[in-house]
Amino acid sequence: MKEIDIVVTMDCERPVSDTHPSASGPPNLEKAALWTQAYADIAGRYGFPVTFFVHPEVAVAQAGLFQELEAKGHCLGLHIHAWRFDDRYTCEFGGLSENEARAMLGEASALWQQAFGVRPRYFRQGTLSANDSLFRVLSDLGFRGGSVSLPGRVFPDKHAVWAGAPLDPHRGNATFRLLPGYLDFANMPITVDTAQLNTRDGRQFYWDLRPDFDGLDYRAHARNVVAQIQARAPAVPCINMLTHNDYDFADSESRVAKNFVAVLDAITDACRDAGVTAVGATLADITEKVLARPVESAEFDPTGGRVFLDLDDRPG
Ligand SMILES: [Zn+2]
Repeated sequence: MKEIDIVVTMDCERPVSDTHPSASGPPNLEKAALWTQAYADIAGRYGFPVTFFVHPEVAVAQAGLFQELEAKGHCLGLHIHAWRFDDRYTCEFGGLSENEARAMLGEASALWQQAFGVRPRYFRQGTLSANDSLFRVLSDLGFRGGSVSLPGRVFPDKHAVWAGAPLDPHRGNATFRLLPGYLDFANMPITVDTAQLNTRDGRQFYWDLRPDFDGLDYRAHARNVVAQIQARAPAVPCINMLTHNDYDFADSESRVAKNFVAVLDAITDACRDAGVTAVGATLADITEKVLARPVESAEFDPTGGRVFLDLDDRPG
């Protein structure tokens, strides 16, 4: 492995003035624009483009900003929190039935088209909340790629359960979200450090490389992540990191802006020390690489790879 693609992403939420006081999000659109641009500028110093996942109302309100960013080589995708998009719902995306999810994505795509004149091709849902219909719905509706999973996350109350999910980019599965599949839809999982599984209040998660966190040893996590990717040797090696548009990246002294620089330094240094080149990429680039590969078909083997829990569990 000579190169690892570095995919820097941001979820662009509605301002809290438009949603709910307890929701995450920037205080208003002016601050959001400033902070979004500043995030792209910092990533640009490392040669990394940004993939922005934009909530539909934000796409409409800030179409000019995002069109400018796209023209400069950044990538745009749709972002949705079900309860923020439609207040009839009190859940995240994975709590919707398949018909509800199709209807919501149809409405959101119409707003997107109103903003940009084209339909969205890339997607990330809030909280990485999903059920097994996710990949077939996205594929049916013409999406080409997404960053829709966070391996290891177990947040049942948010319909966000990804224990055992693939760690590297892969095609989506039409019927079971935790396995690679054959759809013409590429998923780029958020990159996690699998060295330590955390358990808190009935939830589970691995650390990922978002600058939002406080007190993480980013250098240790970046080194672990690079070593884990080298050991897995996936077909499409990439590091996918995220944040949100509610942090002041324009103030270089702010906590999260400092963390962001620390993370990017940690990733580039970890790659260099491991003898691989860190190459800036977008979700569009990863999608092309995944979909250019032949579909891998695994033959079902009823005795293969089983862990025998007790003797009665043996295939007869
Ligand atoms: Zn979000």
